[in-house]
Amino acid sequence: MDIKITLAGPEQRKPIPRDGNTLGFGRHFSDHFFLMDYAPERGWFDPRVEPYHKLSLDPATMVLHYGQQVFEGMKAYRGADGGVYLFRHRKNFERLNRSCRRLVIPELDIDVLEQGLRELIRVDQEWIPTSEGCALYIRPTVIATDPVLGVRPSDTYLFYIIAGPVGAYYPEGFNPISIYVSDKYVRAVSGGIGEAKTAGNYAASLAAQQEARKKGYSQVLWLDAKERSFVEEVGTMNIFFRINDELITSPLTGSILPGVTRDSVIQIARSWGVKVSERMLAVDEVFDAAQKGSLKEVFGAGTAAVIAPVKKFHYKDRDIQVGDGRSGELSQRLYKYILDLQYGRIEDPFGWRTRIL
Ligand SMILES: *Cc1c(COP(=O)(O)O)cnc(C)c1O
Repeated sequence: MDIKITLAGPEQRKPIPRDGNTLGFGRHFSDHFFLMDYAPERGWFDPRVEPYHKLSLDPATMVLHYGQQVFEGMKAYRGADGGVYLFRHRKNFERLNRSCRRLVIPELDIDVLEQGLRELIRVDQEWIPTSEGCALYIRPTVIATDPVLGVRPSDTYLFYIIAGPVGAYYPEGFNPISIYVSDKYVRAVSGGIGEAKTAGNYAASLAAQQEARKKGYSQVLWLDAKERSFVEEVGTMNIFFRINDELITSPLTGSILPGVTRDSVIQIARSWGVKVSERMLAVDEVFDAAQKGSLKEVFGAGTAAVIAPVKKFHYKDRDIQVGDGRSGELSQRLYKYILDLQYGRIEDPFGWRTRIL
């Protein structure tokens, strides 16, 4: 497919933030974005790169009322050799299409998405940060655009990809977080939209997140909606527990987002000979393990943080301390290995890395 490219003029260009320590996350966006439209008679059409600009939407636009939307989150990395790399990006596009199916949005051609992403990154390559641990965060998004009220799938859609530099997740080192186990709110139910990356799931999570923050915890651990006893996810990450020598994560039961990082962790750990189980894990089993001293490490896994070690849980009126409160040995090893893969510092036995520039 031909992608039309309109470059930003000098007056439309923004200064590129260069200081990796002050980048933060999701606050800066590059000079261009990639777009495509959908109409029933034409399918997805008019793939193009344009100068970054505001969208003009009718106040009745469907996505603003009924949340028919899906998105993705991935990164481009400036490698040790000066090259630019993507990491398992086609897996993100496959998941985007699965989310589309759940939200009744027409699927996209993955080759076109890849081509659009490559063009955007080529045009805005100056925006990829070079400091250690920094990357270009990429946010593909689809929104329903019919300017009509009424609950039904939209006929028209807009797809776009915005990108922007993000800082290292741990500017002060690999620090474990404290998490709050929510017994009042749930994130998603099996049969609902929890396994799709769609706006409504995050709207549903805000109240619990705010409550956790107020109490001094940085993330929420979600339990299953039905029994409120099995662990599911932490914030916007999948979660792993090491109990003695078994690494446990929740199975993909329908209410859990199938993370790319989750899958990478499972495959890497298995390749190292670690026993990995995808099984239901009751929060009581976690408490028992902690009491017996067999809860060795806990960490979240997701694109933004890669690995987020956990030092403490709070559930009802109990506290669980994880290991000795410092980041665990397996967490550290996985974190370093995944970053080395992503930045092209080591061989890639899994074939996950794609050099695009
Ligand atoms: C995006 C996301 C994850 C992590 O997925 P990755 O592909 O590893 O980034 C986990 N849980 C939720 C709810 C998410 O939105």
